[in-house]
Amino acid sequence: MTDHTEPTEQAEQAAQSGRARGAARRTWTRVAAASAVTVAALTATVTPSVAVAAPADAPRTAVTAAAAADVDYDTWQRDCRAVMDGALPYLKERIADRAPGEKQAIVLDIDNTSLETDFGFSYPQPANRPVLEVAEYAQEHGVALFFVTARPGIVEAPTEWNLAHAGYESSGLYVRGFLDLFKDVAQYKTEQRAEIESNGYTIVANIGNSATDLPGGHAEKTFKLPDYDGQLS
Ligand SMILES: [Mg+2]
Repeated sequence: MTDHTEPTEQAEQAAQSGRARGAARRTWTRVAAASAVTVAALTATVTPSVAVAAPADAPRTAVTAAAAADVDYDTWQRDCRAVMDGALPYLKERIADRAPGEKQAIVLDIDNTSLETDFGFSYPQPANRPVLEVAEYAQEHGVALFFVTARPGIVEAPTEWNLAHAGYESSGLYVRGFLDLFKDVAQYKTEQRAEIESNGYTIVANIGNSATDLPGGHAEKTFKLPDYDGQLS
């Protein structure tokens, strides 16, 4: 993925991509209606901790890896909010200090970071509210959001739609291609951040919940959400 465009071109591209998303949404609605079970199965491929696909309207705590981890939804949300309560003031300060011409970006993991994967096992998955609130502040103040996930390319389109449906205005989604599946996840994610930087962005924050989301540099600051000793993907 490359993007060397200027802000005005970005605005036009964003408008176009918004239209494209609208079209994709209509298409996806039809696909989802026809094959909800298939969608659940595809999503399950990226949430290996969930062995059995739950019905789309399952309660959040019904079939979840988190339940197995003895972590309830309220605890998880409180723990996420505590981290994001530290991220927002930093972000506000960093945006206020933006250098002329600087293109600021935030990198986000998806599962159990941007979306409620293990607590919201349905499609579409709901946003993880504390993270969405920080992301909304960012996107409303000209900071680009990039999503770097270990999800495989096969679920790129439904993932992109899910992020938009949840309220995220994505400037780019990085999923793992075939060869990436053989790489260390932390290395793969680091390479994507380097790619984002090479496109002219300054990554002011990298937000994730797994140990593989954050090492390797290429971000001014990292924010670690809970994974409860690896029990949340
Ligand atoms: Mg994750």
